[in-house]
Amino acid sequence: MRLLIKNIAHIYSANTAEKFGSILDKENAQIIIEDGLIKDIQNNSENINSNDYDRIVDARSGVVLPGFVDAHTHPVFWHTREDEFIMRIQGKSYEEIAEAGGGIRNSVRKFRQADYDSIKLVTKSRIARFAEYGTTTIEAKSGYGLSLVDEMRSLQIINEINAEQPIEMVPTFLGAHEIPDEYRNQREAYLDLLINEMIPAVKEKELAKYCDVFCEQGVFTVDESRRILKAANAYGLKSRIHADELSSFGGAELAGEIKAVSADHLVKISEQGIRALAENNVIPILLPGTTFFLGKNDYAPARKLIQAGCEIALATDFNPGSSATQNMQLIWTISAIKLGLLPQEILWATTIIPARSLGLAERIGSIEPGKQADLIILDIPNLNYLPYFYGMNHVSKTLKKGEIIYERA
Ligand SMILES: [Zn+2]
Repeated sequence: MRLLIKNIAHIYSANTAEKFGSILDKENAQIIIEDGLIKDIQNNSENINSNDYDRIVDARSGVVLPGFVDAHTHPVFWHTREDEFIMRIQGKSYEEIAEAGGGIRNSVRKFRQADYDSIKLVTKSRIARFAEYGTTTIEAKSGYGLSLVDEMRSLQIINEINAEQPIEMVPTFLGAHEIPDEYRNQREAYLDLLINEMIPAVKEKELAKYCDVFCEQGVFTVDESRRILKAANAYGLKSRIHADELSSFGGAELAGEIKAVSADHLVKISEQGIRALAENNVIPILLPGTTFFLGKNDYAPARKLIQAGCEIALATDFNPGSSATQNMQLIWTISAIKLGLLPQEILWATTIIPARSLGLAERIGSIEPGKQADLIILDIPNLNYLPYFYGMNHVSKTLKKGEIIYERA
């Protein structure tokens, strides 16, 4: 199978030989794809014999980027929570709603009542929408089950959907998303269930690659998070951590201590936490769409993290409570305005760095010969235009492994 993408005004990709934010800009180019891989990148002027190709795609003087890699999502849920969104508009905080039994525990109750096939069907239709907005790989967390059976159902759904459609999904076990209703007064028993039953079951069925913990005031303490993640490590599950989102709680310091793959959120990260991430090569995954959607004004200190030597990633945090979007292009705009990031930095943070955080950077995340042809064609004139002309979908085609998986009508 040979495919040619011609008439590309600019191909932009992270220049992985250089430092964070340095990009390659190939003008007036064409890309040859063979058997799902990028075969060659040429000048547009080079002669083409159309007989050599199974398909020729005209980029119409648009831009080609690597498909976005969204390394923090919670896509497996049953009901949506627009009612809580309205409560927040009327002045209640996310924490108050959670305290009153809303939030994650609300999602958990509904998830447990729904049958497997219905949850799978609705999740699968959601996953397809990532392709529309240019995302070709996601990390997908469980975490709305919070019982042995329901967490297994959640991970099973991720694994099955991953095998049935083109968007790649990397599963993360997030049984430590919250303490469920029935364990509110017996935390230790829930920790026991997590460590001695759920984690071994996840490993036995090979259902996840990572283990994540919501390390936060009122959720899991630093000590509890350490115990859970170390237990998971012993079963071969690497660590990701929801850290320092609502308070400066020590989650980033813990991420450094146990050499987690990523520390996510980091709105309230301390100076010490920043050093801990930089010194231990933990990837900060910032989720500015969540801060925006919660109507808060404090954003994660992206520039400080970069200055400390961290290579950051950006993700949607797609979930039914605190960030109901799958649109990475919107994250571009919020990151530019609220985190002060430049388009070339955002390109790194939405492609190669999240790919690295998922252990996939050898295969995806940049446009180079030999890499998988996960590409998006956008009808924009240059990179700066992407976050500038905002709230729109600029993707005209999405390719995964060299196959067109989304095409604007
Ligand atoms: Zn999250």
